[in-house]
Amino acid sequence: MKRLLLLGLLLVLAILSLALTRWTVFGREARFVTGGALVDVGYGLQDGVESFDFANSHELTPDEVWGELQEQNRLSASMRVRFPRTPRHPLVALLVCMDARIDTNELVGDTRRYYYVIRTAGSVMGEREQEMLELAVRNGVKLIVLTTHSDCAAEKTAADPVARQEFPALAAAVDERERRVEEFLQRPKIAGAVREGRLMVRRAAIETLTDRLDDI
Ligand SMILES: [Zn+2]
Repeated sequence: MKRLLLLGLLLVLAILSLALTRWTVFGREARFVTGGALVDVGYGLQDGVESFDFANSHELTPDEVWGELQEQNRLSASMRVRFPRTPRHPLVALLVCMDARIDTNELVGDTRRYYYVIRTAGSVMGEREQEMLELAVRNGVKLIVLTTHSDCAAEKTAADPVARQEFPALAAAVDERERRVEEFLQRPKIAGAVREGRLMVRRAAIETLTDRLDDI
């Protein structure tokens, strides 16, 4: 009930801020903040009904999970047809581990079309990711944030002699993560863009449970 009241209040705020948007900076800011709050409320509403999601559904077969994913996509895609998104040219590229606990929308706000997001095992860049980032810079990216995160399963695997035997490629990838970063920074086009002030490359650590991003 509390959530529904909050949702109602936010909807009123959204309508008010939409009306104010045209005339004031405050209106535009209120619209931006309200939009973010509505997204949070939306996630909050969905989190309360996990039975419609994949949580706690270990009895499902892979076929049933695939069917459910398709059904969710049909619903989502039908909304996109009704509410088309504005195309954007991102200024930021993020490299983030594929750990499911990290949601880039929760990390920095709306990443849809505003960010290039590369998700890899253990936040390791291979040559393909490096080339993709270089292409992103050519397309206008001005900031690349290379992240790692706490409680990383890939890092734990690399640190455990028994697990290393079982997942040798993953362990090797984590071992070479730093070398890959150096390699990337030394690519002529990346180094040139940094030198000319067109690009900044930052390293950052994500606190997995709180989404806090700390500069390294
Ligand atoms: Zn990880």
